[in-house]
Amino acid sequence: MSTRRRLLAVLIFALLGGCGFDPAGEQPLDAPAVYRTWWNKTEACSGLSGDFDRIEWLVVPGHGFACSSGQCAGHWESSHRIYIASDWTRNEMVVRHEMLHELLRRGGHPDPPFGKGCPLTWATWPGGDGAGQQADSVNIE
Ligand SMILES: [Zn+2]
Repeated sequence: MSTRRRLLAVLIFALLGGCGFDPAGEQPLDAPAVYRTWWNKTEACSGLSGDFDRIEWLVVPGHGFACSSGQCAGHWESSHRIYIASDWTRNEMVVRHEMLHELLRRGGHPDPPFGKGCPLTWATWPGGDGAGQQADSVNIE
């Protein structure tokens, strides 16, 4: 490989590395049994189906982690990775929000199914803790 090509390779590698989503301290998470129930509910409300076992769950210590919209409780990647901040791994809305991205295979929040169909946003979740959690200003991507 010429020096020029090698430099180019290093540059490309650096650029790719800089774009990757990589919060600090994430650990693999064995999906709790209830996640399968939540997955089934999310398939039902959206009318979509997907492969639960393909998801790689990662837990990031704390209440939120750095993400493109600020601090996030949850984040989905198209590579079937779902990141959840440790404070939220038992929060049905946060976990199912990320599941819905996996079922849709896209980011963004088209309504339906986000809102109508599946009320899986801070504003639409009927569980009662939505407004309070939103005041914490952690986002879900
Ligand atoms: Zn989202």
